[in-house]
Amino acid sequence: MFKQSAMSNVDALRFLGAGSAASDCLSPSAAVVERGGQPLLLIDCGPGVANVYRATYGELPKAVYITHLHMDHVAGLETLFYASRTLSAEQQPRLYVPVTLVTALHARLAEFPNLLAEGGANFWDALRLIPVSDNFWLQDLRFEVFPVRHHAPYAAYALGLRGRFVYTGDTRPIPEMLTRYASAGETVFHDCAPQPNPSHTGLEDLQREYSPSILNRMVLYHYPDEITAKRYEDAGFRIARGGERIGLDGSDGV
Ligand SMILES: [Zn+2]
Ligand SMILES: [Zn+2]
Repeated sequence: MFKQSAMSNVDALRFLGAGSAASDCLSPSAAVVERGGQPLLLIDCGPGVANVYRATYGELPKAVYITHLHMDHVAGLETLFYASRTLSAEQQPRLYVPVTLVTALHARLAEFPNLLAEGGANFWDALRLIPVSDNFWLQDLRFEVFPVRHHAPYAAYALGLRGRFVYTGDTRPIPEMLTRYASAGETVFHDCAPQPNPSHTGLEDLQREYSPSILNRMVLYHYPDEITAKRYEDAGFRIARGGERIGLDGSDGV
């Protein structure tokens, strides 16, 4: 398993945004897994993300993973639907969605009556839905999916690639999960809110719940503004910012 990871050439996560739903100045949190410097998998697609992706890479995403269904993580799928309608089936984005979220995602985005005024279009005509359970394959890589703690049981899911990274999505602390899924030197991209609350992790939570070996590999995102980001840095944490490419070997990428 680790041999595959070491050879995977998955070298960076590029953050298109690192903001929270409460932010009035930052793009919503979304990141792109890059392989050999090329985009491989977009994580989450909140409002505006599809356009930021296109401005960054000059094309639409070919693969998208959804962590959960809050609008700051899925509202941009509507943009992606309209932009993908003219693509061939082979070019249309694949949408990897935890299977327990599929019914609610369909209700949120696909049941809207008359997606086109003239009719003749279904939401899933333009996006290739791939329900996933605890893992899925993309190219020759095996990504892992596991539940986190956000609002309700089995309502939000992290994404991991052994030996490379774990991206928690929105969550309360999950030390027992990171012991299992981030025990091989993975960079851990972790939600952090200005204050601990029933929905999100706060700085005090991180310091109380996680061991130094995990804290040393942690990068924080999903915050409301730059002032908050600076506060996290002052507390000794690394921060992801919109537009930043973060290397997975401890470097800064580009
Ligand atoms: Zn969020
Ligand atoms: Zn959320």
